[in-house]
Amino acid sequence: MAAPKTVGVLALQGDFEAHGRALSQAGARPVYVRTADQLREIDGLVLPGGESTTMLKLLNIENMKEPLAEFAREKPVLATCAGVILMAREVSHPVQECLGILDLAVERNGYGRQIDSRIVELDPSEDFLSRTGAGKLEAVFIRAPVIQNVGPKGRVLASYLGRPVLVEQDQHLAVTFHPELTSDNRVHQLFLKKL
Ligand code: GLN
Repeated sequence: MAAPKTVGVLALQGDFEAHGRALSQAGARPVYVRTADQLREIDGLVLPGGESTTMLKLLNIENMKEPLAEFAREKPVLATCAGVILMAREVSHPVQECLGILDLAVERNGYGRQIDSRIVELDPSEDFLSRTGAGKLEAVFIRAPVIQNVGPKGRVLASYLGRPVLVEQDQHLAVTFHPELTSDNRVHQLFLKKL
């Protein structure tokens, strides 16, 4: 059997440990990344949910912003929730700096208070299902950003309330919900296939 892939999880802030567990279950070896040097040891990187403003501050303090962007220009990133906000081309509500790796415009906390946090069942695209297996996908949204538009290279793999919530762009996946909080780990499995 091939050696398991080593996947980093950015561990400056947010729910990185749940991603570590999901990656182990999907057959990868997780490494918690806290320095730019560690980016050299990994095959792919997960950007967890949390608070994107805080993550951005910590990335600046640790001088990790440019190394992270450089990593993402070559290697796969699974960006979830706050991670999508960091990777986007444009962020609103409020306007915030971002890395511009994913050709997406996002609005922070864009679903509003009423559906601040909820668990729903998604019907993913045929493309997703044929690569990961059949069945609805349980999705946990926690103060999620809304993806307002997707650039020409983006492929929408699942939507909720008419908005994309799972998007593939080249080697990357952007997910506005929390796939690490459910027992269904098809999103992590799909990510591992991209490494
Ligand atoms: N609301 C957070 C932000 O704007 C993202 C929420 C999450 O990652 N669960 O950064």
